[in-house]
Amino acid sequence: MSTYDRNNIFARILRGELPCKKVYEDEFALAFHDIHPLAPVHVLVIPKGEYVSNADFAASAPPDLLTGFWRAVAKVARDLGLESSGYRLVANHGAQSGQSVFHFHVHIFGGKMMPHDMT
Ligand code: IMP
Repeated sequence: MSTYDRNNIFARILRGELPCKKVYEDEFALAFHDIHPLAPVHVLVIPKGEYVSNADFAASAPPDLLTGFWRAVAKVARDLGLESSGYRLVANHGAQSGQSVFHFHVHIFGGKMMPHDMT
């Protein structure tokens, strides 16, 4: 996996250099609306740390960040009103999966029936 590029778009959003439509922020995570939504609700959650994807986030993030990040994901989904209707989490790892921004992020999709076929 590539090394972390400190000038990727999400790093710049975290530093406040680029705007975002913020949904939630705490000491561990920032959540904002995807600029090209693929579902009625499409929010991205990113950790506050330099991790390319889930592989190095899981391997190197301190336990409080791991816990805080995933709690933030659950809280954002709950606050968006998706807990009873259901939602899908997606995290792409590597270009073949479709990852285009190389700062680890989780997509939250909701607001419609999700297809089973991922291809
Ligand atoms: P990936 O393809 O899993 O890496 O997801 C990257 C996501 O970031 C895509 O869904 C893009 O639409 C989204 N995206 C790219 N630039 C921005 C931005 O500036 N603000 C919000 N979302 C963005």
